[in-house]
Amino acid sequence: MDCLFCAIVKGDIPSTKVYEDEKILAFRDINPQAPTHVLVIPKTHIPSVDGINAENSAIVAHIFEAIPQIAKAEGLTEGYRVVSNCGDHACQSVKHLHFHVLGGKQLADSMA
Ligand code: AMP
Repeated sequence: MDCLFCAIVKGDIPSTKVYEDEKILAFRDINPQAPTHVLVIPKTHIPSVDGINAENSAIVAHIFEAIPQIAKAEGLTEGYRVVSNCGDHACQSVKHLHFHVLGGKQLADSMA
């Protein structure tokens, strides 16, 4: 399968890692939209939020346990936003489940 984020997990494409354990990886977005813009992904391939089910949802819980630690390490004491784009209407460009963690400034009130 030709998946950019699977290639990052394998180390075939470089990334700036901020967190890693046996199940998940977090790295800096190559085109940051805020002073802190980190992507948190499962190492296993799940195409999007639409691909989450009873068999694989534990990885999502694990990601959301890690996000506060990542936010703390990034100094996001004033808050942050977690976003996952799913499908074409949401402009998902990489078809591997990922959560954007954005912060480090006052973010826009509008999300759409
Ligand atoms: P989305 O549009 O929600 O699918 O988000 C995909 C994100 O991946 C975008 O914010 C891109 O800037 C980011 N991205 C694409 N290629 C890379 C890469 N090689 N390293 C880090 N981030 C990337």
